Amino acid sequence: MNHPLRHLPPVQAVLEARPALWLAQRFSRAEVVEAVRAALEEARVAVRADPDAPLPDCSGEAFFEDLAARILAARRPRLRPVINATGIIIHTNLGRAPLAPEALDAVREAACGYANLELDLETGKRGSRHALVETLLCELTGAEAALVVNNCAAAVLVSLSALAAGGEVIASRGELIEIGGAFRMPDVITQSGATLREVGTTNKTTLADYDRAIGAETRVLLKSHTSNFRIVGFTEVPTRKALSVLARDRDLVLVEDLGSGVLVDLAPFGLVDEPVVGDILRAGVDLVTFSGDKLLGGPQAGIIAGRRTVIGRLKGHPLLRAMRIDKLSLAALEATLRLYRAPHDPFKAVPVLKMVAEAPDNVQARAARLTRMIGAKTQAEAQTTPTKAFAGGGSLPQQDLPSHGVVVTQPGVSPEALSTALRAADPPVIGRIVDGCVLLDMRAVADEDLPAIVSALAKAAA
Ligand SMILES: *Cc1c(COP(=O)(O)O)cnc(C)c1O
Repeated sequence: MNHPLRHLPPVQAVLEARPALWLAQRFSRAEVVEAVRAALEEARVAVRADPDAPLPDCSGEAFFEDLAARILAARRPRLRPVINATGIIIHTNLGRAPLAPEALDAVREAACGYANLELDLETGKRGSRHALVETLLCELTGAEAALVVNNCAAAVLVSLSALAAGGEVIASRGELIEIGGAFRMPDVITQSGATLREVGTTNKTTLADYDRAIGAETRVLLKSHTSNFRIVGFTEVPTRKALSVLARDRDLVLVEDLGSGVLVDLAPFGLVDEPVVGDILRAGVDLVTFSGDKLLGGPQAGIIAGRRTVIGRLKGHPLLRAMRIDKLSLAALEATLRLYRAPHDPFKAVPVLKMVAEAPDNVQARAARLTRMIGAKTQAEAQTTPTKAFAGGGSLPQQDLPSHGVVVTQPGVSPEALSTALRAADPPVIGRIVDGCVLLDMRAVADEDLPAIVSALAKAAA
């Protein structure tokens, strides 16, 4: 039987051809073997699907050029920049907050040489890495003291371990949250060595509920920011002020896990439910935990801020050492925090805040420009459309930011296939599918990214 697949050479035969030997010198034999296998397998799949599909000429120049391209593609770094056209500014899958240039400069300086990470330059003695950002954090939040660990999940675990292990943590049933990545508050409390005492109901918890639950073993009253969901309707929670008075009267610590934790008020942009760290501490909360790479706009980090005596009880806990922040993140965090002080304006200097604050008209102008560019340079059809963008990162799930995007269609191509092609571009373009069309939201896209989006679409058509 003269099956077309019989005309495909064995891997070994391709490898012995002279151009393959050159490739093995330029790259490595293992990579060439891998590329040849993949190319032959692709041809087999194509012929099985359609017996009349053309077979590659496995001795031709084009075939070996294709092998080289495959090897180069496989050699690309796995972690690559992507264009975020999802309309979600802080997207955990896309690396959360982009850093400001000032933060990058600080990382470069700290990374290339040595730094006084744990050296007190005045005394010449061992210093604390926490001290490098503590003053700034206190200045920006009004806290008496602060510590930094590698993320907010660690900040919660360290805090509860140090304050409540062997005792009880009281939390409202309406605040037993799960954050993405299986961070479940009841499990975290158990991991900390404390026992969870649930009070109230899903929608209503009163001060009396907390009061009645307090016993000899109680150590902490825990509030958690219900950052990724909302219960609406018939609801009630005690104020922070009331909880803090109760905690003080009964000699307990009031801890609040804020998650995102903003340092500036976002209400002028319509985002009214994200509490400002300073306000929470002023309301009497003893200790707050929040992320460095959510609305703060810095590197991955977990910040613990609050009363000096309470922070003092955390110092020296072994988990603090196990979850300590590295020098690169610390450098980026310090530089980011400085952007919140005059003469800087955080809404101009911190990228996530800049994206939150950008006027809808500006975003619309970018969408219109992209629409024109796509029309002029590709086969795709594009249309500017109003959209809803989100702060993301588990913050403000119900509050959207007015935004604008471009709906892209490619005649004869399904939206799923178009999305896949855009993800395969270099850099990959990540949009979403809305009402059966690919939508590219412009709120988290930079002007400089537009040409790359256009060439991704042009390639997708080809
Ligand atoms: C995001 C979030 C966390 C976890 O923060 P990471 O920095 O990702 O560890 C914890 N609590 C809340 C309320 C959050 O929103």
